[in-house]
Amino acid sequence: MVEKLSRYNHFFQMADTLRIVYNARTGAVVRLDSRSWKLVRDGKCRELDPEVSAVMREQGVLVPGETDELALAMEKYRRLRSARNKLMLTIAPTLDCNFACPYCYENRLAGTMSKETATRLIGFVDRRMKEVREVSVTWYGGEPLLAAEMVLSVTKRIRAICGSRGKDVSFFLVSNGYLLTETLASKLASAGISGIQITLDGPPEVHNRRRVLRGGGGTFHRLLESVRIAAEAFKTVKVRMNLDRENRGEWEKLAAILEAAGLSGKVRFEIANVDATNEANSEYKNKCLHPEEFASEWVNFARSAYRRGEDGLLKLPQMTVCSKVSAFAYVIGPGGDIYKCWNDVGDPKKVVSHVSESEAPDKNRQWARFSPLQWRECRVCSLLPACMGRCPDLLEKSGPETACGRWKHCLQEAVILHTMSKLKGGKNGKPEKQSAIAGATIGCPE
Ligand code: SF4
Ligand code: SF4
Repeated sequence: MVEKLSRYNHFFQMADTLRIVYNARTGAVVRLDSRSWKLVRDGKCRELDPEVSAVMREQGVLVPGETDELALAMEKYRRLRSARNKLMLTIAPTLDCNFACPYCYENRLAGTMSKETATRLIGFVDRRMKEVREVSVTWYGGEPLLAAEMVLSVTKRIRAICGSRGKDVSFFLVSNGYLLTETLASKLASAGISGIQITLDGPPEVHNRRRVLRGGGGTFHRLLESVRIAAEAFKTVKVRMNLDRENRGEWEKLAAILEAAGLSGKVRFEIANVDATNEANSEYKNKCLHPEEFASEWVNFARSAYRRGEDGLLKLPQMTVCSKVSAFAYVIGPGGDIYKCWNDVGDPKKVVSHVSESEAPDKNRQWARFSPLQWRECRVCSLLPACMGRCPDLLEKSGPETACGRWKHCLQEAVILHTMSKLKGGKNGKPEKQSAIAGATIGCPE
């Protein structure tokens, strides 16, 4: 059988000890000994030891000559997008917020979800129970804890519906954290919320210039206390730091503060790049980091995570499907309007349905129209199967140069660090099959 090397292979070498192939379609990382490495680079795969070529074949690094890998990747993407066994809801019980962060893209609007809308929302979930095996809910806003009673009540009701039908359900909360108290955290956790994300934008002197209360005033110490409370109450606590030109070098100080507070082993600290995607934050655009700049910061962050042994942060890209392009994922605003993208909430032109409608939302199948293959850069990109255009909204608005994100600029470092963390104590010189990272996830890419 004629075989060929996958078009989605990426080869990386570090010193004379680590030679690895990462495959962006399967997510596999295969480690090669020096002889196999040379044969592969010289295009002499037929001369590989059978044991080595078997691993390469199994991991998609070597494929039958006639394989159309682009078609395989797009088929996986199509299947993931059209799956109807998981209902993914993002619910904003209010678009109001007690903060006035300069980069915020939410359209702040007063008012919270009414009891009537909540009841219609429950009906919407109930009508979809026959099809699904699993429901996942992300509470979002505005600041959802301004509507804490609504969050609690709807969480309990969705959990009860799922429980009575034998469906799995999970709840996550994205909050600025300012209103989190021990009592509230305990109520939210008892209601079924298992994880929370709170954003800190650096050490106090930096954070307090950025994440300010609407009436003015810093929030750092209150939020650090909220992180401590959250770490006691929830299974998963993410501390996110939004990076831009003003605070790009400050994450180390925040990491040190979390460590000194005894929180570093209890929370997952991540950095994120902020994209100015709509009019509400277009003025902020000049302060945003170019993906290449963010990638260089991320490499420092990942090296630090590696030194600290926080291997969970050393992720590799993998296919992610978000609500905008999925058949069974919806973003619900406080008035019960249904949108497809997190960036659309509050924009009446982007409403696709309402929770009171009995018909399926998005009956025009807008979700199915997007394809990263519309862009030449994506069609020929060796990262396509793991990226798929990253954020479809950003790709449509700004093109691949912005949408590409960090991976194009730091894949080598990411793969090497990831592999080194897996190989601590590994078998030198043998092709190493890595654990499954070949899956795919559903959600907004970070
Ligand atoms: S990933 Fe982008 S397109 Fe998808 S829901 Fe999030 S913001 Fe919208
Ligand atoms: S957005 Fe960039 S990295 Fe992603 S598939 Fe397109 S060209 Fe490749």
